[in-house]
Amino acid sequence: MEKTLPFTKQDALRWTAEHPTPFYVYDERGIEKCVTDLYKAFAWNEGFKEYFAVKALPNPAILRLLKSLGCGADCASVPELVLCEKVGIQGEDIMFSSNETTETEYRTAKAMGAILNLDDITHIEFVENTVGLPDTVCCRYNPGSFQITNDIMGHLYDTKFGMTLPQLKEAYRVLKEKGVKRFGLHAMLASCSLDDNYYPNLARELFRLILEIREEIGVTIEFVDLSGGIGIPYLPQEKPVDIMKIGAMVREVYDQVITPAGMKVALFTEMGRYITGPYGYLLTTAIHYKHIYKEYVGVDASCCDLMRPAMYGAYHHLTVLGKENAPKDTKVDVVGSLCENNDKFAVDRLLPRIDLGDLLVIHDAGAHGHAMGYNYNGKLRCAEYLWKKDGSFQMIRRAETLDDYFVTLDVDEEFSKQ
Ligand SMILES: *Cc1c(COP(=O)(O)O)cnc(C)c1O
Repeated sequence: MEKTLPFTKQDALRWTAEHPTPFYVYDERGIEKCVTDLYKAFAWNEGFKEYFAVKALPNPAILRLLKSLGCGADCASVPELVLCEKVGIQGEDIMFSSNETTETEYRTAKAMGAILNLDDITHIEFVENTVGLPDTVCCRYNPGSFQITNDIMGHLYDTKFGMTLPQLKEAYRVLKEKGVKRFGLHAMLASCSLDDNYYPNLARELFRLILEIREEIGVTIEFVDLSGGIGIPYLPQEKPVDIMKIGAMVREVYDQVITPAGMKVALFTEMGRYITGPYGYLLTTAIHYKHIYKEYVGVDASCCDLMRPAMYGAYHHLTVLGKENAPKDTKVDVVGSLCENNDKFAVDRLLPRIDLGDLLVIHDAGAHGHAMGYNYNGKLRCAEYLWKKDGSFQMIRRAETLDDYFVTLDVDEEFSKQ
């Protein structure tokens, strides 16, 4: 199945006439529909909230849009917290799901009234001795043996996140003793899962656990944070998850486990990739053709703009604009300009014959795309645009300039000393 685009070559040409490639463009309509559907799927749960994982797409325009749709934010650093503050996301609309957290980070999060999600039992003492424990605390669980394998997160025994079961129970006991009043439970056991059963299975595990914790420790957990991990189909043959079905299956588990126990639990999610991933595109221009032992198409973007292919060998679908229906009869590597041989957006990919000047669209770049950008080889990070529902094209982050590159240096000062 061919992946389709919500915009045409004519749209893109209008954009590139005024804005040089490479750049990111995000489809407001797509993001809005995704969030609206997610809220529909979990409408049965009083208190349901999506805390968008800011790391996926840390842009104020996107956060404002998500806030307007009812989302909070999941943060893990001071800059992410400040970004939320600037767009008016605050208090318990922020989940601070950090790990190896510094005192400064805890201090900032607590001052903003964010929910602290503790990654380790030792952080109870750390928080108490530095910034003081807040009234609401969430704990992150790592069940170790829960078998969902995936490429990015690996096996859970090997992941650095969360507490073991005995530690988790001890954590709630200690937190209660220290006067914490409200409690949450968090676990993230997968990354990019396309299995509709992932959330229901995780929910069953966590729901059973909160009954056990109430029974054994006398702590009532108010919210369960299923975290992120829902995947998107990067490959054309993959199918997206069915979010309505997922919501209904989680409800079934809830009705089996939570309702009979006479409890009420709010469900939270912290999705990143699922919310924005498919609705972001990296536009780049073919600038060179090289024929040596293989065929190469050189583009004006590099892995400094989109790191996933170089870092994980991740597949990102490519469309050559205007050649959507042309035969894919040329096998090429599509490469960026970095002095690193892994700077390849595609390897041995069958594509329509590419002419210099053709616009290439790199799909599914809306999460962990621009956010993972960097300046290696002196590459300046590209601009981001929001393609709005009214058809307008709004710059939401300008491209970096040479001055930005030098802003943390004092080159002239250095020279004057010599
Ligand atoms: C990265 C992350 C998320 C979001 O993960 P996605 O796979 O993008 O949904 C959510 N919560 C935490 C704690 C994370 O680290």
